[in-house]
Amino acid sequence: MESVKRNILLNPGPSTTTDTVKYAQVVPDICPREKEFGNLMKGIRDDLVKIVHGDTEKYTAVLFCGSGTINIDVCLNSLLPEGKKILVINNGAYSSRAVEICQYYGLEHINLAFPVDEIPNLDVIEETLKQNPDIALVHTTHNETGTGILNPIKEIGALVHQYNAVFTVDTTSTYAMRPINIEEDNIDFCMASAQKGLMSFTGLSFVVGNKSIIEKSADYPKRSYYCNLFLQYDFFRKTGEMHFTPPVQTIYATVQALKEYWNEGEQAKWARHTRVFNAINAGLDELGFRQVIKPELRAGLVSSAIYPDDECWNFEKVHDYCYERGFTIYPGKISTANTFRLCALGAIDKGDIDEFFKVFREALKECGVTVPVKYSD
Ligand SMILES: *Cc1c(COP(=O)(O)O)cnc(C)c1O
Repeated sequence: MESVKRNILLNPGPSTTTDTVKYAQVVPDICPREKEFGNLMKGIRDDLVKIVHGDTEKYTAVLFCGSGTINIDVCLNSLLPEGKKILVINNGAYSSRAVEICQYYGLEHINLAFPVDEIPNLDVIEETLKQNPDIALVHTTHNETGTGILNPIKEIGALVHQYNAVFTVDTTSTYAMRPINIEEDNIDFCMASAQKGLMSFTGLSFVVGNKSIIEKSADYPKRSYYCNLFLQYDFFRKTGEMHFTPPVQTIYATVQALKEYWNEGEQAKWARHTRVFNAINAGLDELGFRQVIKPELRAGLVSSAIYPDDECWNFEKVHDYCYERGFTIYPGKISTANTFRLCALGAIDKGDIDEFFKVFREALKECGVTVPVKYSD
């Protein structure tokens, strides 16, 4: 097996993959309607439930062909009963995306907005649930990838259940990285896609959730043909296949990625991501960069650094310098400050971050940025 040029992706997904996962895509051509392929998908679906410690009797994984946003679309449009309302707890870009999905489908919703650098206030959430007994579905994001803040999903989930609503959590940027226990964390539905925590490729996304709630949703309004949770679940139940053509090569890669996931182990993998994250923060601190999210609120996977007040700072130039040397850095996603992000996902370790900071420091020097970096206030 020839090794492929290794790039270190510090963007928030897709992530750096192993060569074994890359090569797992190279297989004889196969029609995905063959039994052999169906068996592969069954194995994946069970594994996806087990990653969040779900009981496969109670929880199931429903696969979709698409990037991660398809999961948010599917959950919101499929799990809302007629005449009911969605509550989106929104402190960042990905929950704002959920609000936009509600708008596009014309779903009744409340956009409960909080500052992007603070965790949502539980008293306000409870008051909103109390005042609006027609809320049937509550949605939020676990690790707000736009900033890297960790939301208290277990506490939010407890409130949601106290008020008899269903809780969907966008775990795309924590799943298979930061340990999750679907039942103990009070989650009814979580979601992710293969190119993030699993360190596979784009094209396969999945919703992991409570079977009985999906079955109940059979009678809810059907608002999308391609993106309906019950229809896809029902098709899997009857045939063991995806309703429409699956992302064949990504599924082969994901089978390999799951093997590597179990080999590494949940705790060891989380410890590795933590090592990477700590190295990123240490590197940023040493250079004097400020971050948007206070250390105690960080989810441990995304660092969001604020642009220094230095007229020589030029994100594009720094990016290009690093990119040419195999390191990808990424712009931020908040409107209140100019930021860039460094993320700890993927098949990388502390040594890669040490190498990155050598290159990053050179890039700052090339641009003439003063180190440690300066801020005007
Ligand atoms: C990456 C990500 C998504 C999905 O984004 P796509 O561009 O559709 O893959 C959704 N939610 C969160 C929190 C993410 O980090």
